[in-house]
Amino acid sequence: MSRVTEQRQIILEAFKKGYHPTAEELLRKLRVSNPNFSRATLYRNLALFCENGKLQKISAVGQTDRYAINTGCHYHVVCERCGRVEDLDMFNPLQNPPKLLEYTINYHELTFYGLCPKCQQKAKK
Ligand SMILES: [Zn+2]
Ligand SMILES: [Zn+2]
Repeated sequence: MSRVTEQRQIILEAFKKGYHPTAEELLRKLRVSNPNFSRATLYRNLALFCENGKLQKISAVGQTDRYAINTGCHYHVVCERCGRVEDLDMFNPLQNPPKLLEYTINYHELTFYGLCPKCQQKAKK
């Protein structure tokens, strides 16, 4: 296995459903077993994986980007205040709009933004 392939595999294997790290959180995790893992390599591959649909980038205004493994029908809700990300499991809520049927779809993403229960409590006080 080439070094590049190996590094890509190490990155993807670090992900599982429910894990939505920032790049720096992921780097810390990778360096536990690969102390010399390069930050530049990680950032380059994160960009590549987002381009080819293996990973999904979750961006919220004022928050550091987070990354999630792309596992099909798996959506996210993001708290715009504390940056918490949670999984939503639901079937396609778009109910096949006619326009979609004209395309072959490779993947899709859907993210909801708002305030988590904890931040709603804090906002009330
Ligand atoms: Zn919150
Ligand atoms: Zn997720």
